[in-house]
Amino acid sequence: MKTMKYTRGEFVRMGGAAALGLAIPDAAEALKAPAPQEGTQDGRADLVVINARVYTVDDRMPRAEAFAVKHGRFIAVGSTGDVRNLAGRGTQVIDAERMTVVPGFIDTHIHPQGVSDLLNANCDVRTIAEIKEVLRKRAAETPPGYWVEGFKYDDTKVKDANGQFRRINRWDLDEAVPNHPVRVSHRGGHIAWFNSKALEMARVTRDIKDPPGGRFDRRADGELTGLVEERATRVFSGVGKQVEVTRAHRQAGVKFASEMMTAGGLTTVGDGGVSPDAAMAYQDAFAAGEMRYRVYLHYGAANLEALKAAGIYTGFGHDWIRFGMIKYSADGSMSGRTARLSQPYVGRPSDYGILTMTEEEIRDGVEAAHRNGYQIEIHANGDVTIDLVLKAYERAHQLWPRAGGAFARHQIEHSTVMNPDLLRRMAAVGVVPSMFTTYVYYHGEKWAEYGEDRMRSMFAARSFLDHGIKVSAGSDYVPGPFEPLMGLQSMVTRKDYTGKVWGENQRVTVDEALRISTIHGAYGSFEEDVKGSITAGKLADFVILGQDPHDVDPDQILKIPVVRTVVGGKTMHPIERV
Ligand SMILES: [Zn+2]
Repeated sequence: MKTMKYTRGEFVRMGGAAALGLAIPDAAEALKAPAPQEGTQDGRADLVVINARVYTVDDRMPRAEAFAVKHGRFIAVGSTGDVRNLAGRGTQVIDAERMTVVPGFIDTHIHPQGVSDLLNANCDVRTIAEIKEVLRKRAAETPPGYWVEGFKYDDTKVKDANGQFRRINRWDLDEAVPNHPVRVSHRGGHIAWFNSKALEMARVTRDIKDPPGGRFDRRADGELTGLVEERATRVFSGVGKQVEVTRAHRQAGVKFASEMMTAGGLTTVGDGGVSPDAAMAYQDAFAAGEMRYRVYLHYGAANLEALKAAGIYTGFGHDWIRFGMIKYSADGSMSGRTARLSQPYVGRPSDYGILTMTEEEIRDGVEAAHRNGYQIEIHANGDVTIDLVLKAYERAHQLWPRAGGAFARHQIEHSTVMNPDLLRRMAAVGVVPSMFTTYVYYHGEKWAEYGEDRMRSMFAARSFLDHGIKVSAGSDYVPGPFEPLMGLQSMVTRKDYTGKVWGENQRVTVDEALRISTIHGAYGSFEEDVKGSITAGKLADFVILGQDPHDVDPDQILKIPVVRTVVGGKTMHPIERV
C-alpha cells in the first residue's frame, strides 16, 4: 500500500480548512495553544480516524491512512502521524486497525419511506403456502371491507406445493382470504395480483378491455388470472377501504428505513417518489433526531404547479433534506418484465412491453419542468422509452438552454437497455443514468426473458463510463435489494446468485464501482463539491468496512461487514444507545 507522507505545512494547506472558513484559521497557532478545558473549542478535531486503508475517491489523493473531522466535515486527510496531531482532549479517536474506509454510499433512486415495511404483509418468502399464511394472518386483524396488502412478492422465486416455480393467481389468494379485497404487489411495483373479492368490488369481469398502457392477464380460455399490469391497476383506486396511514406512521417509516439502510452503508438516498406527506415525514423524523441519513427528494410531477407557486426549485433545502427533481414514469419495469423494448421478450414474440406515457406526454412534461428551471427524472427502462426521453431532453436543451450552456443534469431511471446511439446522445446532452446495481446478481432468473445477447447492453456500467457518462447507483428498493456491497459485487462480477455470468463485457473494476456508488451520485444532485469523496472541506460521510473489497474474492464482496456508518461526523450505525 502506498502511504502519502506530508510535512506539517503541506498537510495544513492540503486540509484547506482555512480556505473553507472552518475552525482551524491557523493550525500552527492552534497547536501552540493551551490544552482545551472542555470539548474541542480550540480548533482540535471532533473526530479522527487513524490506521485505516482509506479509498478517498478523490483523484488528487486516492489513498490515505487517516483523516480528521470537525463540525461535521472532513478538515484534513493524510497520514496517521499527521492526523493524530489534530486530536486533543475531547477528540473521539477511532483506530481503524487497518480496516477499509470508503466515502458514504449514495443511492440515487430508491423508495425508502418505510411505511410498507411497517404496515403491509411481507411476501418476500419462497413458497405459495407461506404467502397464504402471511395474508391469512393479516386478514385476521383487518376489519371487513378493508384491503389486505401484500408487498415484496417476487413471482420467479416462489414454489408451489409440488416444489415447482409458478406465479400466484386469484384462486390462491381466494383460498387464503375470501372475504377481504387482496392486492399482492410485485416487488417491482408495476404489477399486482388481486383476489376475486377485489375484482368483484372493482366490477372487473372477463369482459373488461385492456386500457392504454395497461393489461389484464388471462388464461387461454379468457378467464382473468388476477394479475393486473401497469395502468390497468388504476381501476382499483377508490375501491374498498384503506387502513389510514397517519403522519406518525410515516415518521416511523423514515426512522425504520434510515436505520435499515445506514446499516448497509448508505449515507444519502434519493427518494424516487415523494408526495407532500412524505416530505413532511422526512422533516418530522429529522426534527425528532430520528433520520440517520441525507435525502434528495424527487417529487411526483403532480406537484409541479404547487412547487412553482411556493417558489421551490431544485437545490432548495439543506444538507440533510434537499429538493430535488420532478419525476415522471414512462414505461414498465425490468423485474416485472414490462419495460418497452424494440425487440420482443424471449419466448413471447408479440410482447414488446408497455409504454406508460405517450411521446407527446413525455415531451410536454419535460418542457413544463425544464422551462421552469427544474431538474427532471424520468423512469425509462427499455430502449424505445429511453429514445423518447432523450428526444425530449435534447429538445429542451436546444430550445431553452441553461445559463452558460450547462447541462441540466436531467436523469433517466433506470436507463437499462442501451445501444450505441443512445449512449452517444446521452453523453452529448449530459444525462445522468441512475442504474440498477443489484439487479444482475439478485434477479438472475429473469434475465433469460431478455436474453444473453441483450444483457450485453443492459445495466451498461462499462459503456456508460467509456462514454464519459456519470452513471450513478440506484437500487430502486423495494424492487431491488438496496445493499451497496451487493451492488458493488454485481457490477464487478456480472454474476447472478447462481454464479451465471450475464454480459461480462459490462464489468467494471472495484474502484469504478465505488466511484459510481459515491461521487457520481453526488454529481447527480449538484453536490459533487459537498460530498461523494473523502476530501477536506466535504461533509464527513464515510463507511468502515470489515474487509477490503479490492482484496476479497469478488464473489464475496456482498458479505463484507459494514462495521460503522458515519454521517456528518456522527456514527449512525451501529446505533449508539445511551
Ligand atoms: Zn423507482
